[in-house]
Amino acid sequence: MKRRQFISLIGVGAAAACTGASKSNSNSEAKTNAVKSAMISGHFFPALPYDYKALEPHIDAETMEIHYDRHHRGYFKKFTAAIEGTSLETTAMPAIFSEVSKHGLAVRNNGGGYYNHMLFWESLSPDGGEPSAKLLSHLVKAFKSFDAFKEEFFNAAKKRFGSGWAWLILDENKKLKVVSTSNQDNPLMDLAEVKGIPLLTIDVWEHAYYLNYQNKRGDYINAFWNVVNWKVVNKRFEKALKGEWIG
Ligand code: MN
Repeated sequence: MKRRQFISLIGVGAAAACTGASKSNSNSEAKTNAVKSAMISGHFFPALPYDYKALEPHIDAETMEIHYDRHHRGYFKKFTAAIEGTSLETTAMPAIFSEVSKHGLAVRNNGGGYYNHMLFWESLSPDGGEPSAKLLSHLVKAFKSFDAFKEEFFNAAKKRFGSGWAWLILDENKKLKVVSTSNQDNPLMDLAEVKGIPLLTIDVWEHAYYLNYQNKRGDYINAFWNVVNWKVVNKRFEKALKGEWIG
């Protein structure tokens, strides 16, 4: 696939991601906040798709509340402030990321922080099911076994120095890869070392786990597997194979 085509295919994601998050939400207070926060055309602060305590004991309610309501909301506010009055107000996030090196650090850091957390919340569920047979077979083909995939993902998350994220992506050649990014970068960004469509992600900033796990990042990553939303990962994989993108 040509690069331009790849970008245009992933450029339709932001609105779909936000709509999806709102639809699946059962928390009416968060839904109201999401509507109130719809400050800029095309960019919405998404509702959390479950209660703060829904992922306990693996991710505790206090961490979820602070992470979503302060950290994530903070990125959204700073991002919308950074793009106010510019054409980025109506540009979908993946399209912004495809040229993020031109837009400056405020857009890169806060736009990444806004979008990555949206993907992260959707990657989690108290009832996330299992990888589909199709995804499983592709994981085995790419990594030799499902356990080997989990080990590579674990290592990418554990060894990321400082703050950042680990990702399972489908690259431009339709190959599954595990990568990690620093700070709030993601694999959709033009400056990413390895680019691709995100299927699954874990936040390894200390704010994501420190209250419950302190310095034991490995324990947090191991607990993460209990709350992965494979239903969403399976859907993202099907879309990505067709060159389509959903948040
Ligand atoms: Mn975070």
